[in-house]
Amino acid sequence: MEKKQFQAESKRLLEMMINSIYTQKEIFLRELISNASDAIDKIYYKALTDDNLVFDKDSYYIQVTPDKANRTLIITDTGIGMTEEELETNLGVIAKSGSLAFKKENESKDGHDIIGQFGVGFYSAFMVADVVTVVSRALGSDTAYKWESTGAEGYTIEPTTKATVGTEITLKIKSNTEEENYDEYLEPYRLKAIIKKYSDFIRYPIKMEFTGKRPKEDSDSEFEDYTEEQTVNSMVPIWRKNKNELTAEDYEKFYHEKHYGFDKPIKHLHVSADGAVVYQAILFIPENIPFDYYSKEYEKGLELYANGVLIMNKCADLLPDHFSFVKGMVDSESLSLNISREMLQHDRQLKLIAKNISSKIKGALQSMLKDEREQYEKFYKSFGRQLKFGVYSDYGANKDQLQDLLLFYSSKEKKLVTLDEYVSRMPEEQKYIYYASGESNERIEKLPQTELVADKGFEILYFTDDIDEFAIKMLMTYKEKEFKSVSSGDLGIEADNKEENEANTEYKDLFEYMQSQLGGKVSEVKASKRLKSHPVCLSAAGDLSIEMEKILKTMPNNADVKADKVLEINVNHTVFQSLKDAFAGDKEKLNLYTALLYNQALLIEGLPLQDPVEFTNDICKIMV
Ligand code: ADP
Ligand code: MG
Repeated sequence: MEKKQFQAESKRLLEMMINSIYTQKEIFLRELISNASDAIDKIYYKALTDDNLVFDKDSYYIQVTPDKANRTLIITDTGIGMTEEELETNLGVIAKSGSLAFKKENESKDGHDIIGQFGVGFYSAFMVADVVTVVSRALGSDTAYKWESTGAEGYTIEPTTKATVGTEITLKIKSNTEEENYDEYLEPYRLKAIIKKYSDFIRYPIKMEFTGKRPKEDSDSEFEDYTEEQTVNSMVPIWRKNKNELTAEDYEKFYHEKHYGFDKPIKHLHVSADGAVVYQAILFIPENIPFDYYSKEYEKGLELYANGVLIMNKCADLLPDHFSFVKGMVDSESLSLNISREMLQHDRQLKLIAKNISSKIKGALQSMLKDEREQYEKFYKSFGRQLKFGVYSDYGANKDQLQDLLLFYSSKEKKLVTLDEYVSRMPEEQKYIYYASGESNERIEKLPQTELVADKGFEILYFTDDIDEFAIKMLMTYKEKEFKSVSSGDLGIEADNKEENEANTEYKDLFEYMQSQLGGKVSEVKASKRLKSHPVCLSAAGDLSIEMEKILKTMPNNADVKADKVLEINVNHTVFQSLKDAFAGDKEKLNLYTALLYNQALLIEGLPLQDPVEFTNDICKIMV
């Protein structure tokens, strides 16, 4: 029979598994059982919408059968099964499980325990088996198929027969080596312990047979053999248990079992609501950003159970967008099992639950910010952008709810601060909450525009995220204080206006000449009051800031948005003397200086030069 090759990526993972140095080989069982449970979930889920399919709870189970004599371990499930094509695509290629990507990222870290903690999938079978045989019959099909592989060499698929729908996976357990005892995976009690450890909350019975000897009835000296079937897992879902009986590890285990993420959640919430709505929920705030989080592919949502049974994998209506990073599940007795997706959207109960959950999440974040600042900052690093996005979106509908969760880097504190912290230490004479936008804290630190505000001793918030300025524009004020960009026309600092006004009158002709020389690139050239040591900067006259122009330009259909730019000149700088001299005697020189200063201002802003070659030519001109 033709041997098919695994796809390149799968092959790598496979090799990793086969040559695995990982201590926790036992997790292969968890992976296979989880897949079996997923497969039963799929039938269950299908039955919800398919009237011809009845889900009779008792006929769905997972069976684990060791056979010492043949050195095999068989894992059977009555799940949805796989067609020939599915065997090919699901087992010949790495599915979306992302284990490999994760492994790559973390290669340098403590590699061998990571693998034990996270989903590694079907291939983990090769950590303990020389040969893996999968016989599967898909729901609605009469034919079964046998997939078989000895690992790296590839796999074969052929038709076979199987009496019932479902999947049977046979592992030919490896022989013991000097370092490794594989026999343990044939020991019923050892297997039972592994199942209890990892798969106790699996919702379907995991059955095993135990044999032994027991005293014969009515006899003290004679023994008889017996066989007994046990359901090994307790099945009671974790969310129905009492919080006091559960440890942080239990929650973490649940997080990983559910494949909510590969990381360690930063916080868990176990909610048992008994008020207007009755529900239980376990919610997690992940530590790391899922790799697709800030992309269109990311799907928010919580698992939704009706009275202990899964009805939807990702119920998006349960989470507002600004908390889309939350993972977890909700179980409610108030929901009907046969509810359809369309009906769910209008379900009053669901809306109440969603509202309730949202305020629980907010509460948890608030107390984390208050009591565990370091943890909160870690969280904020990953998901702060989403909160800011939440302030901005829906025309600011959620801004009041979110504003106190925001953090920005402070010029004075040199760390992240809340708006409340900022406002509470504003000196009497300070009217505005000042901010400066730029690519990074380092670059903002050097922006000439910050000079006056900083000189006054006022704190400046640094905006380095695309969304920052947009979110703040939506917020408009915080505790009745307006936000003000350090580049905006009127800074609300009056002290130096006199000198500036005088200069503008005195050098009116010079400034007008320069403005016309720049041919509409700036709406005005004027004496700056915000510059202290730098000769020049750009500011924006209108509502649209230069930073916003940059961001909007990266979006489609916004190619021609323009901030109304003003070229500000520091009249106390020695360069200004050169401008005055040139204006009096050498217009050609003034033209050159004007172009140079304008281009310098662009560079400081991080804006592209229209003609970099001309700029360098200009510099050469003044050098010779
Ligand atoms: P993951 O479970 O993360 O998708 P796995 O490597 O564990 O990745 O499994 C790959 C795929 O193979 C599954 O998504 C599923 O479609 C299929 N599969 C594995 N085991 C079974 C099973 N027992 N019954 C049905 N399908 C299965
Ligand atoms: Mg899996």
